[in-house]
Amino acid sequence: MICISLGRTRHSSMMEEHKALAEKGAELVELRVDFMRKRPDIGRLLKDRPTPVVVTCRRKMDRGRWFGTEEQRLAILREAIIGGAEYVDLEVDVAGSIRRYGKTKRIISYHNFDETPLELFDIYQRMRKLDPDVIKIVTMANSPGDNVRVLEMVGAADVPTVGFCMGEMGTLSRVLCGRYGAPFTYASFSREREMAPGQLSWAEVRNLFRFDQINQQTVVFGVIGDPIAQSKSPLIHNAAYRKLGLNAVYLPIRIPQDRLLESLKELERLQVAGYSVTIPHKEGVLQYVDRMDEATDLMGAANTLFKRDGQWCATNTDAPAAISAIQDGLRKAGNIPELAARKVLILGAGGAARAVGHALLQHGAVVTLTNRSRDRGKSLASELGCQFTSWENRGSEICDVLVNCTSVGMHPNVDESPFEQHWLSDSALVFDTVYNPEQTLLLKQARDRGCPTVSGVEMFIRQAALQFELFTGYEAPVEYMAETLRRSNAAARTIVSPDQTGG
Ligand code: NAP
Repeated sequence: MICISLGRTRHSSMMEEHKALAEKGAELVELRVDFMRKRPDIGRLLKDRPTPVVVTCRRKMDRGRWFGTEEQRLAILREAIIGGAEYVDLEVDVAGSIRRYGKTKRIISYHNFDETPLELFDIYQRMRKLDPDVIKIVTMANSPGDNVRVLEMVGAADVPTVGFCMGEMGTLSRVLCGRYGAPFTYASFSREREMAPGQLSWAEVRNLFRFDQINQQTVVFGVIGDPIAQSKSPLIHNAAYRKLGLNAVYLPIRIPQDRLLESLKELERLQVAGYSVTIPHKEGVLQYVDRMDEATDLMGAANTLFKRDGQWCATNTDAPAAISAIQDGLRKAGNIPELAARKVLILGAGGAARAVGHALLQHGAVVTLTNRSRDRGKSLASELGCQFTSWENRGSEICDVLVNCTSVGMHPNVDESPFEQHWLSDSALVFDTVYNPEQTLLLKQARDRGCPTVSGVEMFIRQAALQFELFTGYEAPVEYMAETLRRSNAAARTIVSPDQTGG
């Protein structure tokens, strides 16, 4: 079950939104009465309530908005109990002074906005003595391992316990607590209205992560990186699990660069079955694995970790995805999809350039690399064993295939292109690895010039599909994944479009 936190300043808005949530299928709503501008009229809020509720009146010291005295606050909580609210939230330090009455269930809560204390079990034991129906322990995650400790505590609890971490690193436990027996998790009305750091929206918890279907058998996958919040991988992998009806969930897991190995070790306790890997961990993960294929070893970077016979294996699906996208583009343009001896100009010298450059060279292409930062570009070119040209001279390079591996043109900087239109020769295939937006300025200008084009969506979906197959053993629903990504890109553009904001 998902408990949706609702905080409005006026009774009428609170009741209207509560009704709207019920109509959309909400099963439990937390009424955050500390948000109300006037003293909350509990009787009015509870009368004709369309779903069961948790009544919560959070103090300022617990990051709530309650403006009255503590006596008034406790009186409100007692009113909620007398009024027959299904649940009332009682902080651990006041729970002893509020007696059980009627059918109202007592959620005894503990919040820590700074850390996840080491003595979690002691805290739990103290809370257990306060006559709880549900224990709620919510702490700040300062490392991925904090989630692991909270989830283990939830799993070991003999009183129904909702336990998860806050912050961007807490997403893991907000979603996985159901796998460890938590009776519900909390979500906000929408992302813009989060009530606690890192709180997910109801739509995300319900539709993206399918919290209500998570159980002990749910297989866990994730993408590791830093930052990770903008990653589209959870969107398309979870969509694919949903489409195929698999009992699996895919989570964004933020791991700071200096904590990679210890975090992967701690996450073993959650039996994560596979990872996608993104910046800055593509090189670092190779120190963790038992095996890797030859191409990954040569490249020195992996974007996928998966388990075989209890061993961690590393591979790189970016490289074959890029090659197949380019070959498909050549085929569609009426060319032979042969890369040997084709002249390719790669823009950029980051992780994408390394994977694409390596794969193209393996296929016999004649590669020249250019990069804004000269030293970085020269160093990658020499490592790959290809030509280097300066960023200023890139327009004079003649090539059969142009590959943009810079982030220029990526949302929101959609009016930028890394290559002038008049530099393009009309027969060159132009491949932009940027996948949001799909139709970058570079691709639009290339098409205007008559060049065949390949978008980053083609590569992104292919690399994810290969991962999906390694993770699950099933054929990936490629079209469905691509459609999901395109819809999400379009929705993101609508949200920030000046027409919509009036700006
Ligand atoms: P990265 O390691 O951070 O490298 C970024 C590259 O972009 C560097 O070469 C950087 O040049 C260049 N760059 C950034 N801003 C620039 C600017 N204003 N002008 C010129 N060059 C600029 O990132 P990455 O992992 O390689 O990713 C690069 C792009 O590839 C991203 O757009 C990413 O979305 C895309 N990508 C796509 C897929 C896919 O499946 N479609 C997969 C991986 C990556 P400096 O060295 O001078 O900073």
